[in-house]
Amino acid sequence: MPRSRLKKRVPRARKGFMRRFVKRNTGLELRVRRLLFAMGYRYRLHTDLPGTPDVAFPRRRIAVFMHGCFWHQHGCSLCRQPKSNLKYWGPKFERNKQRDYAAYRALRALGWKVVIVWECEKNDARLRTRLQETLGAP
Ligand SMILES: [Zn+2]
Repeated sequence: MPRSRLKKRVPRARKGFMRRFVKRNTGLELRVRRLLFAMGYRYRLHTDLPGTPDVAFPRRRIAVFMHGCFWHQHGCSLCRQPKSNLKYWGPKFERNKQRDYAAYRALRALGWKVVIVWECEKNDARLRTRLQETLGAP
């Protein structure tokens, strides 16, 4: 294969790689939103709160973030460090983390409670229990 072709393949591969994670995160949001709705909760989307939480309950003052384990470096088995390009990923992860913490702090300062749902929380029954305990009665 000519060298020019090989070079072209790298960015395309990374694009696909990133898209995969973005997609998965969207799947998580849809799943949790469906779960919340089925439980009888009514929430707001697209608020202008710090960090733009995925779901917000203004009356209860509870903000819910749904985090992909890889992007937000949960520390679970789903977020193994990428083996290559650590120089690229390391600072990126650190920025994500700092941005997350800043948003949580800002929300708490405004009197909001922050709830994080992680991608690895695959068990619906367990997640339902946890949400109900945190959010209170629908
Ligand atoms: Zn996780």
